[in-house]
Amino acid sequence: MRQAQLWTNDFLPLIVTSPSGAGKTTLVRRLVEALADMTVSVSYTTRLPRGNEVDGRDYHFISEARFAEMLSQDAFAEWAEVHGHRYGTSVAKIEEARETHRGMIFVIDVQGARQIKARIHEAVGVFILPPSLHELERRLRGRGTDSDATIFKRMSNALGEMQHYGAFEYVVINDDLDEAAAELVSIVKAERARRWRRGRAVEGVMQGRDVARAAAPRDGQPRS
Ligand code: ADP
Ligand code: 5GP
Repeated sequence: MRQAQLWTNDFLPLIVTSPSGAGKTTLVRRLVEALADMTVSVSYTTRLPRGNEVDGRDYHFISEARFAEMLSQDAFAEWAEVHGHRYGTSVAKIEEARETHRGMIFVIDVQGARQIKARIHEAVGVFILPPSLHELERRLRGRGTDSDATIFKRMSNALGEMQHYGAFEYVVINDDLDEAAAELVSIVKAERARRWRRGRAVEGVMQGRDVARAAAPRDGQPRS
């Protein structure tokens, strides 16, 4: 894998990881509704689309051969095999997002989270926990997208995945959805206020500029 420093400054790379069914997709959707200047990384995967999934919106659905080709071109910032399929995050899409957004959210598994952390030191990790294993199973069944065999596989992986929560800066327990979503938004706001992410703003104020305007959301527009 290419080891170039994918660098940031006031750009926030946010990793969101959880066992399947704990609610990361739902929570991330809430997060981008609240903060439109954050964008979600659309991963590449070799798995087939589920019922209502759309190519290019939920994932880029590609063949094994195309995935192997992208790997050989160092096109992935991280990649992993999860539940028997390959998933990867595009380096080029991160570089694009740095120009247009104030942060990018990576909804990836524990293996991918470790790779992003090793490569982008400014990345912040949030681990989402279900309130109980019983509730996790209830949500997986309620989602109605997975077969019994898939649910069994996901439940048996869940405990192993949870053991890695120590590699993340934050843990959000997704019991009440509104509360968990508000917590996630607070984490982003707190991370944005870190001194080293505010260097450019402090300089601006000292030079007599209006930094409030510079920090306004610019969804889809190049940042100045
Ligand atoms: P993940 O992306 O982690 O696999 P999803 O976001 O798809 O999980 O959520 C799994 C299921 O649980 C979905 O049907 C979703 O609507 C539901 N869900 C998510 N968060 C909550 C919550 N706090 N309370 C009840 N149901 C939830
Ligand atoms: P699903 O198939 O249910 O959408 O996702 C299965 C698992 O793959 C989830 O844990 C999800 O976070 C993870 N995943 C999705 N995209 C990526 C990716 O690009 N990289 C890695 N490492 N994991 C991913």
